[in-house]
Amino acid sequence: MDSSLKENDSYAIGVSGLKLGKHTFDWEVNTALLNAYGVDHLRDVAIECTLDLEKKERLMQLDFELKGDVVTDCDRCGLPMTLTLDLENRLVVRFAEESDFSDDEVVFLAELESKLDVGQFIYEFIMTGLPTRLVHPEGECDPEVESFLAEAPSEEGQGDEEKEEKIDPRWEALKKLRTKD
Ligand SMILES: [Zn+2]
Repeated sequence: MDSSLKENDSYAIGVSGLKLGKHTFDWEVNTALLNAYGVDHLRDVAIECTLDLEKKERLMQLDFELKGDVVTDCDRCGLPMTLTLDLENRLVVRFAEESDFSDDEVVFLAELESKLDVGQFIYEFIMTGLPTRLVHPEGECDPEVESFLAEAPSEEGQGDEEKEEKIDPRWEALKKLRTKD
């Protein structure tokens, strides 16, 4: 865990040393950041993160821009798929007596804290920026699986539990072959 913690620490901004006004930060976000938060279904993460920060007397406005690719396995056919992200997120940090990061858009940073670690926010922006279903666009799945799914008898009228248990043995064999390579 030590290496991922160190990786995470590199997203820390020395807040107390920042002058009032605008500052820009850049990071190359890689898989290690997501791994540090327990994410293991995304790989080959290559995301450019640019942060435009404006420090004012009582608050800071942080505008994050995240652009790049992540690779995952399609939930439908199991083949790798690349997801391209192009996200913009704003975060407002208010200086307060105590730190409180429980809000999504406004966080409170204790005036005594000299550092703000934005790694957690970058991780959250990436996760919320991903589509809910990680599947290829319609018609772009592995053709072998597409034709299998097209031939499969309709499952309508059955309970979800029953559906999950009833896996065609040919499909299972195919999935096993996939995981080998
Ligand atoms: Zn697919």
